[in-house]
Amino acid sequence: MWGRGFRMHCCSIAAAVATDSFFLMHSPRASRLLSISLAGVLSIPIARVSAQAVPPDPTASLLSEIIRINTSNPPGRTQALADLLGARFRAAGFTVEVFPTPDSAKVHFIARLKGDGSKRPILLAAHADVVGVEREKWSLDPFGGIVRDGHVYGRGAIDFKGGMAVFAMAALRLAERKVPLARDVIFMAEADEEAAPMNASWLAKDHWASMDAEFVLNEGGWIIKGDDDRVRYVSISTADKSVATIVLTATGTSTHSSMPLPDNPIAALASALARITAYETPVQLTTESRQFFRTLATTSTGDTSRWFRALVDGTPAEVRAADSLISRDPLLHAIMRNTIAPVLISGGFRSNVIPGSAQATLNLRLIPGTDPQSMVALMQRLVNDPRVAVTMGATSPVAGSTPSSVETELYQALALEANVQWPSAEVTPYLFQAGTDAGAWRSRGIPVYGIYPYPITNDELRRMHGNDERVSIASLQQGTDMIYRTLASVAGKGSRGRRASARKPSR
Ligand SMILES: [Zn+2]
Repeated sequence: MWGRGFRMHCCSIAAAVATDSFFLMHSPRASRLLSISLAGVLSIPIARVSAQAVPPDPTASLLSEIIRINTSNPPGRTQALADLLGARFRAAGFTVEVFPTPDSAKVHFIARLKGDGSKRPILLAAHADVVGVEREKWSLDPFGGIVRDGHVYGRGAIDFKGGMAVFAMAALRLAERKVPLARDVIFMAEADEEAAPMNASWLAKDHWASMDAEFVLNEGGWIIKGDDDRVRYVSISTADKSVATIVLTATGTSTHSSMPLPDNPIAALASALARITAYETPVQLTTESRQFFRTLATTSTGDTSRWFRALVDGTPAEVRAADSLISRDPLLHAIMRNTIAPVLISGGFRSNVIPGSAQATLNLRLIPGTDPQSMVALMQRLVNDPRVAVTMGATSPVAGSTPSSVETELYQALALEANVQWPSAEVTPYLFQAGTDAGAWRSRGIPVYGIYPYPITNDELRRMHGNDERVSIASLQQGTDMIYRTLASVAGKGSRGRRASARKPSR
């Protein structure tokens, strides 16, 4: 996940973790299970688990290799990774293009396996850069690609080198098995997703022809499994929230601090922020979010299930009551509404001067279709103070997206193959609460679907952008099989795009 001048990376993560801990918190039996499982995790001494020198699975093996190439951003150098991928993909018969950026060693990589051209290409996008690490907080080398206890550890194991390894191995398998293709299959390892500005949107400006496709598979939704290894649900993101920045500027009289005046801009700004943070935006469920919460209702039990149903189908009073309970989970809180977060503040320069102005920046994540200017007007009403100007920030807005249709061949194949791979799981579209590189395609009307293609537990989700990030080898295998079958179905000659709904109706 990315930041576009803002730090929005995987803001989802701690939150998404809470999705399950939410259920756990509200069930005594589940709470007990949580304590037991946490105790289990915490009590495993490092010495007891065996480190394997050679990962036994091709996807895990590739993941270990690419974790060893440190692509932390900044500086986000991806040239060595492009070299490694280039050798693999060329050997398998792909044509390879590498696009340098003005930043040294920060390159975009595109490999293409030709089809007969009777259908437009499918593109798999995986960002090659990762966020940095707090090295001293890891129990092993974050760039060692270490396999331990059935898991590959390292920065990017989940976000998104794990996905890159799965997408790459699934695409390479098409070539190995000589699957006749109706459309080109394009694999892309893009640079600068975690930081911008030389990301996929930058590349699209001059090299669109290389990345044009009928639809795109990217990072996004989650495959969440319980401690019993059973996958509960598969969410496939079909839309991202948009981003807007709003700036509050308070002005007053600049003077000696020994003679305070009532128009102190820092005080005015503090009051304005207090009013804004006390305000809660209303619940606003998109079609995808309704289906997502219906799925959560199906996969949970008791009161929790009833709250989710009330949120989707209840009276206004029931929705408010459900909102107040469900919103204890920050991810679910964010999915169902526009969010407003103060993120930067500045004012004053020395202790004996009252400054003439003070400024705060708000980061807003908006449900698709929300007019950012309407949020400026809302902030003005909330602040209601002539000393505080409310203006749209210079960098915003980053356009949101029209949701990608669930009727495309790609979505249908993903849903079907997810059901085949994890028969007990519900599959649901999903509004991604943060941002990804999907805008490069979505802004051109190309459908983009997002998935982290491996079952993960809440504990593993918490490690994403955190410490001891890891993914299980079994999950990588399952994800590779599922994505391979999806590609074979969507790009293979003679495939007619089987429909998931024929097998398992959505609720
Ligand atoms: Zn990511």
